[in-house]
Amino acid sequence: MPARCAVIMPLMSCIFCRIVAGTEPSQTIHEDEHAIAFLDVAQATKGHALVVPRAHHRDLGEIPVETAAHVMCGLRSRCLDGSSARSGLLA
Ligand SMILES: [Zn+2]
Repeated sequence: MPARCAVIMPLMSCIFCRIVAGTEPSQTIHEDEHAIAFLDVAQATKGHALVVPRAHHRDLGEIPVETAAHVMCGLRSRCLDGSSARSGLLA
């Protein structure tokens, strides 16, 4: 398999990458240049959201510290802006 396919194929099979690319439907509640937040389809509690970095990473250990910090800053801003997501996060 050519190297290019080896890079592209995992991204196409990743639902989070498809959400970031806009090819998978989602209810986006926040986005910036580093991350995107959207409501979880299962809604364990009102406002249950997922926040993912825009770049694909296999797991938490692969996310560069700087990217993880940007993701958490975006999450913190979203939760402290007075939106309903705050109560959902803390419920
Ligand atoms: Zn991905």
